[in-house]
Amino acid sequence: MARISRRHVLGGGSALLIGAGLDGKADAQGTQGPPAGRGRLTADVCGVGAGYAGLAAAYRLKQAGVDVIVLEARNRVGGRTLTGPLEGGGWIDYGGQWVGPTQDRFYELIREMGGQTYPSYASGKSIERSVLDPNVLNRFSGDQYPGSNILKAAYDKIDALANTIDPNRPWAAPDAERLDAMTFTEWLAANVPNENARALVGGVTSSVACASPSEISILEMAYLVKACNGLDKLFGFAGGAQQDRVIHGTQPIAREVAKRLGDTVKLGAPVRRIRWNGEGVEVASDDITVSARFAIICTPPHLAGAIEYDPSPPTARVQLTQRWPQGLVIKVQMIYDEPYWRADGLNGASLDYRTMVGETADSGVPEQYSRKGIMTGFIYSAQARKASALPAAERKKIVLDEMVQKFGPKAANVIEYHEMNWSMQQWTRGCFTGFLTPGATTLFRSAVRDPVGPLYWAGTENSTLWPSFIDGAIRTGELAAKQVRAQL
Ligand SMILES: Cc1cc2nc3c(=O)[nH]c(=O)nc-3n(C[C@H](O)[C@H](O)[C@H](O)COP(=O)(O)OP(=O)(O)OC[C@H]3O[C@@H](n4cnc5c(N)ncnc54)[C@H](O)[C@@H]3O)c2cc1C
Repeated sequence: MARISRRHVLGGGSALLIGAGLDGKADAQGTQGPPAGRGRLTADVCGVGAGYAGLAAAYRLKQAGVDVIVLEARNRVGGRTLTGPLEGGGWIDYGGQWVGPTQDRFYELIREMGGQTYPSYASGKSIERSVLDPNVLNRFSGDQYPGSNILKAAYDKIDALANTIDPNRPWAAPDAERLDAMTFTEWLAANVPNENARALVGGVTSSVACASPSEISILEMAYLVKACNGLDKLFGFAGGAQQDRVIHGTQPIAREVAKRLGDTVKLGAPVRRIRWNGEGVEVASDDITVSARFAIICTPPHLAGAIEYDPSPPTARVQLTQRWPQGLVIKVQMIYDEPYWRADGLNGASLDYRTMVGETADSGVPEQYSRKGIMTGFIYSAQARKASALPAAERKKIVLDEMVQKFGPKAANVIEYHEMNWSMQQWTRGCFTGFLTPGATTLFRSAVRDPVGPLYWAGTENSTLWPSFIDGAIRTGELAAKQVRAQL
């Protein structure tokens, strides 16, 4: 990166000198301009963020012949997807990994990029801590097991409430203000008599946002369920959102989109400031400034709120992004010589409302890539807050002890152990998704999606279908691209 010396800046009209440097031309003193492709650039549209939303927006615009530039803060694309190699073959997804029926936009993008999916391993019994006796771990297949009727009654009530909500206008649902002022914890207390069922159902349902039931309203909770086509689709494996995985992982699909976008995507370019008016935008990172007609801001909402805007967006938008935090989860990957649980008749899935690891799943890859056992564990929300304060070795010991309790002594024999805490990532700060805090849905209503002059908002949080998922992110990018195109 070319540097403009302090002497040059102070020596004359600084704006002028900085401008000369950023134009990419040598100034009078012979200072080199920025490398090709950086500096002062123009385009029809400037995207902010090269996660799936930003990449989808840019790709569709480029296909339509629109001139677009994407500024991405990190030195990689994919945002909340990150895939790493598994020693000896195979891969691990540290972020988003599953895709399932009705997530048509993600399947379509995978297909367009030449990718393939494979079914998640789902044969055998699941494990769930009993709501009748918390000392018992049920091993079951199907949906009939001791206490299942209690759980079904609770899940049915959530689905019934979700069905009263139009995901395009959750603030207009019957009784919306009361429901938005009520936490999910309060709703569970009033609607689910069994204490253990409250803990299990509360933990499972709110895991879509990785929020604790006490920090999310029942309105926002029910909206998320509805927008994800109900609890069965949301949490199911076969037939649900966990049905399939992507061969080679999810991030390579994003990388392929970026490859096709070529020099359109500028890495290492965190957007700091956006100037805008009725005519267009000027989007500035440290060494690139893009003048464009429109900006599509595709970052998690709280990070969109952290950008400096000149002039300020309206009050509703400013307040809204302060009430749209990311959830919290630590994703743990445990690698074994083989998926020993399969031989024991287990599918690797477990749910537990008492332990640090609230959920596990078999994340194995097809045998031609690796025969290793890959077990994923999720430490959600309140448990993650406690766990993150522990020394890493202590946390690992607790995780593995819990795995031994559920899956037997072989669970201790990990050959690799990885943890990913996205709240520690500067350009994400949490996951799986942002959720509106109690009251925010009814206070700010359509401000969640309303463009502000030439500023458009995209990202999974904005989606009315599959929010919190990769599919939702793609949908919002494609929608924003379409809306902007219509005005060019
Ligand atoms: C652990 C985990 C598990 C998940 N599991 C699944 C799953 O199984 N299936 C599924 O579909 N989804 C899953 N998700 C969610 C899914 O990954 C996300 O919904 C999706 O990737 C979000 O895409 P996005 O483009 O909206 O946002 P992001 O991926 O967050 O992209 C935003 C981009 O903006 C960049 N950025 C931020 N600020 C700036 C700035 N100021 N200037 C420039 N760039 C900036 C970021 O670096 C990032 O690249 C999971 C997520 C996590 C973390």
